[in-house]
Amino acid sequence: MRILIADDDATSLVKLEAIATRLGHECVTATDGSDAWDLLSTSSVDVLLIDLTMPGFDGPGLCRRVRQELSDRYVYVVFITVLGNHEQALEAMSAGADDYLAKPLDPLSVRTRLIAAERVTELHRQLVEVQAKLVQATADATERSLTDALTGLSNRRRMEEDLANMHARAQRLMRTYGVALFDLDHFKSYNDHYGHLSGDEILRRVAHRFVNDVRAGERVYRCGGEEFLLLMDDCTPSGALVAAERLRVAIADLAIPHESRPDAAYSVTLSGGVACWDPLSGLTVAELLEQAGQSLFEAKSAGRNRICSASDSFSIAQRD
Ligand code: GH3
Ligand code: MG
Ligand code: MG
Repeated sequence: MRILIADDDATSLVKLEAIATRLGHECVTATDGSDAWDLLSTSSVDVLLIDLTMPGFDGPGLCRRVRQELSDRYVYVVFITVLGNHEQALEAMSAGADDYLAKPLDPLSVRTRLIAAERVTELHRQLVEVQAKLVQATADATERSLTDALTGLSNRRRMEEDLANMHARAQRLMRTYGVALFDLDHFKSYNDHYGHLSGDEILRRVAHRFVNDVRAGERVYRCGGEEFLLLMDDCTPSGALVAAERLRVAIADLAIPHESRPDAAYSVTLSGGVACWDPLSGLTVAELLEQAGQSLFEAKSAGRNRICSASDSFSIAQRD
């Protein structure tokens, strides 16, 4: 252990240092309070052996400061008091000391205190380690609960959180945002024809493509079985339509064969519905999603593999 001995009496300081060094510990020394605090706050000290009777020096004050300000680690504090002075012993313990030693010092008493110190500092070290693991495990579990296991995309729960935050921010700053709801076309027949596992693989490939193609200010979520949502920060209806169209084309460009489609297309495609929020619209998040869903329905009805927008002037449908 690394032991800081704070004592203004050179004789007792040398004696303590000799005992602790003989027991295999590393010692640093200080003869006043500010030197002691400098060493405590800038280097790793496991044990503080401190004389309570130093004139003009507030030992209990230093101990309280250690407990308050060095809370990230544990310093085992032992006060050295005058033999039989119970008031002093109580004052030291109340200030946060772990133990006290009475003068005149004998090697056995010092040794027993240091054995206890070793055990307690080791327990605290383990506690800090376990705490750090717990914090990490909690962060991992939170992340998992917000991630879709199949695709690795953010899931519906995170989508709802992000939508609520985006909405509140747009309201506060008088900004806009947009959503595009995507749904794979004729995916049931894909599963029926190629099998569910192949269907899963398609969902992964689509998600991977989305992740590669989204731009700054955009985020994509898997919000349901074969449905995805693109959330766009600060966008115009035309900009949102262009962004959604970019992703539609990206998926069509994968040219994944889908031979069992009941329509004329022979590859995996998706349809999308776009809706935008602006401060004048007064829409709730649910109403905005409802609009996007309605536009998606229009895109499906109009023949699929296209994007429709809730903004009338942008309800254009495009098709390869
Ligand atoms: P539409 O073009 O009208 O959207 O037709 P569709 O067949 O895609 O729509 P429907 O709602 O009839 O079917 C959706 C299919 O998506 C059915 C379901 O088996 C499949 N699906 C949903 N989640 C998963 C999944 O996690 N894995 C796989 N392989 N398929 C899924
Ligand atoms: Mg669907
Ligand atoms: Mg579908």
